[in-house]
Amino acid sequence: MAAPAWVRTAAMKIFIGVIYSLLPEIILLIAAALLAGFIGQFPPSGILALELVSLFILLAALAMSIQFNRRRIFFALLSLTVAYGGLLAAAGAPDSVNAQILSGGLCLLLPFNLLWTHALAERGIFTRRGAWPFALLAIEIVFVAALMGAGALQVARALFVHFVNWPALSATGISQPGLLLLAVGLLWFNDGLIRRHNPELAAFFFSLVAAAVMLHTRQAGILATFAAAAGVAFGFAIVLESWSMAYEDELTGLPGRRALEEQLRQLGSRYVIAMLDVDHFKRFNDDYGHDVGDQVLRLVASRLQKSTGGGKPFRYGGEEFTLVFPGRTLEEVAPVLEALRGDFATSGFNPRRGERRSAAPGVSDPDAEVALRVTMSIGAAESGARHRDPWSVLMTADRALYKAKQTGRNQVCLDQA
Ligand code: GH3
Ligand code: MG
Ligand code: MG
Repeated sequence: MAAPAWVRTAAMKIFIGVIYSLLPEIILLIAAALLAGFIGQFPPSGILALELVSLFILLAALAMSIQFNRRRIFFALLSLTVAYGGLLAAAGAPDSVNAQILSGGLCLLLPFNLLWTHALAERGIFTRRGAWPFALLAIEIVFVAALMGAGALQVARALFVHFVNWPALSATGISQPGLLLLAVGLLWFNDGLIRRHNPELAAFFFSLVAAAVMLHTRQAGILATFAAAAGVAFGFAIVLESWSMAYEDELTGLPGRRALEEQLRQLGSRYVIAMLDVDHFKRFNDDYGHDVGDQVLRLVASRLQKSTGGGKPFRYGGEEFTLVFPGRTLEEVAPVLEALRGDFATSGFNPRRGERRSAAPGVSDPDAEVALRVTMSIGAAESGARHRDPWSVLMTADRALYKAKQTGRNQVCLDQA
């Protein structure tokens, strides 16, 4: 019997969300699991060393988050580090009532903290408006300490309340409220990852998985391994996002000038470079406002991302884009560029409602749907003996673009040497 459609859709979503977006995290998870598998053979001094290393990794990741002013990651790491300390303490005497209160409290607080920290706005860590999560974490610590001070068995029982009596759930030491929060969190983050891959969200997802292992285990070595893995995941996210900030154009999401420079350095002996420029772009800004101008740029970028027939798109700057075709000749690329130009010229573009400042010229109702026409001029050149390097080819393509502008715009001009 085939699975119902919604099960298949859900499985597909989880597959895309988890497997596809989380490749580095999956490798990290496998590494942590492998290490955890050997922990039984570690002498006590080895476990202690592992605990110290993981503390060092968490502190280093915290320092990175401060340096890069990443508030969400900072508070997630802080609560993770505190929880790690608590779980280590609980693992020391797992059967005591206080250890149960502590781990029962952390089953709720750790997933809860990873969820709300991800929802924080980036407004600085030690600023007046940004520092309140310190108070919340302090309240949590005081609250758990007070519960432990009471030391009552009823408190421990309440924290480990059973909603359902499924035998499978008693295989883990995680409380049922904790399991519920973990499940909600994993689905929530997974859903976000399906929509848009984002290294930070991937790290949060991973940290929730690591938190689940940490809350489940009673072994100090495994705790240390997964706490460290979560620290690495957050550190990795910070590095990856700073890297993409330097290489990616923020407005359009296309690789930017720096990425283009790197691509040019990697080219072989045969390639084509095309320069594209939006025609009369200034008018979009002047007639409809800067927002619509930005929308036009995003639209152009997304079309370039979809279909360039083997060309790699970059935002060169302003309303100019570059396509690089490694291994191709001008003859091969010419029809591709012509098709691209035609595609732009024949399809309209509707700016989103509410973002227009005024109606199109001649249109009296400013809310009427207007289809704007976006046309592009394109100039292209190929590698050859005339050129010293790819930069010289790019300059030649730029001159061809200038010619396309001069001869009426909305055309492709090739540099036929
Ligand atoms: P042409 O057909 O000759 O290319 O005319 P044009 O108006 O497209 O060219 P021009 O170079 O005169 O104007 C480019 C304008 O692009 C000027 C600048 O204000 C605008 N611009 C550059 N970057 C951005 C951006 O990121 N967003 C918006 N909205 N406008 C931008
Ligand atoms: Mg221009
Ligand atoms: Mg232009």
